[in-house]
Amino acid sequence: MSPRQELVRRARTIVVKVGTNVLSTDDDRLDSDRIASLAEQIRRLVESGRKVVLVSSGAIGAGMGLLGLRERPKDLSHLQAAAATGQAHLIHLYDKHLRPHGFHAAQLLLTANDFKSRARYLNVRNTLLTLAEFPTVPIVNENDTVSTEEIKLGDNDRLAAMVANLIRADLLIVLSVVDGLLTGDPTDPASRRIPLVERFDEELMSLVGASKSSRGTGGMRTKLEAVQTATAVGTNVMIANGKRPQILDEIFAGEDVGTLFLAEQEAVPAWKRWIGYTLPPKGKLVLDDGARRAVEQQGKSLLAIGVTAVEGDFEKGEVVSLVDLRGEEFARGLTNYDSGTAGRVAGKRADEISALLGAMRYDEVIHRDNLVVRS
Ligand code: GLU
Repeated sequence: MSPRQELVRRARTIVVKVGTNVLSTDDDRLDSDRIASLAEQIRRLVESGRKVVLVSSGAIGAGMGLLGLRERPKDLSHLQAAAATGQAHLIHLYDKHLRPHGFHAAQLLLTANDFKSRARYLNVRNTLLTLAEFPTVPIVNENDTVSTEEIKLGDNDRLAAMVANLIRADLLIVLSVVDGLLTGDPTDPASRRIPLVERFDEELMSLVGASKSSRGTGGMRTKLEAVQTATAVGTNVMIANGKRPQILDEIFAGEDVGTLFLAEQEAVPAWKRWIGYTLPPKGKLVLDDGARRAVEQQGKSLLAIGVTAVEGDFEKGEVVSLVDLRGEEFARGLTNYDSGTAGRVAGKRADEISALLGAMRYDEVIHRDNLVVRS
């Protein structure tokens, strides 16, 4: 059995992201046949004992068609109106085609804030876990109608990576209208599909310009960013062509389709995924080389004595980046001190901190349990 066959055989929890262009017909309507075919393939996956969560784009595209908007609107309120109208149609089609297979479509509309707040994050996870007890297929999209510029997740590639992260998926499948990551421009006939990427590196980014999707908001660049997020915490990722009629069947038969990106490490525990890869850091702690070594190589907590500078404005309990003297980020963690207090204790020994702050102080600026090394 090839490594690819072995990997798909073992994958139990799967996130499938479907892009707008996969779901659109040439005349800009939702492709009901495509959705029917995906529903059937998903049934086979679930029957084989796998858990599947869909992340589906297509709301704005469908809404444009329904509202008679020829061009993608530029302003947020028209995009939101299109999304509100299109989302109903999108979920209706999924439900219609899942029902004959005995499944219900379960709709989850999420925003960036749902991933930042621990309570909301856990609520989403609990909902997904509970849905798995029933014959449902959870279908996630961004809650476009309430997402304003500041809180937008941006694109569904990123959303899919965050959902994969949330449920600790073994495999994230990104269905697009390209065959996978190519060696060159998709319009160049000399470009070849890269079947396997064993280790993600920045050079891969240079293979894709600033390519952008025509109807959706993604492109190969955002896909690679999603790949990076997912592989870093232990999820394998496949980018494949969703226009191929039996693409999910092909993938799970271990056929040589798409580009498979291997996870970089064993699955990272859920709490650490949230700290290290979900929350945006609110500030920085600059560490001397001894502290970097202690944290990175010796599994130690971060003590104040190793902190040389504090940047940003943060509260106790928020996520901060740990950077070295050259400014390179190598870890993140939940800080025990707000930025003002962290600045006062930086570089001090425990007895000096006691003298300064009294009994109510922590020995560590960041406890090991709340610290994630990212390098
Ligand atoms: N949420 C958008 C939609 O459903 C898609 C965003 C994207 O294309 O990535 O239309």
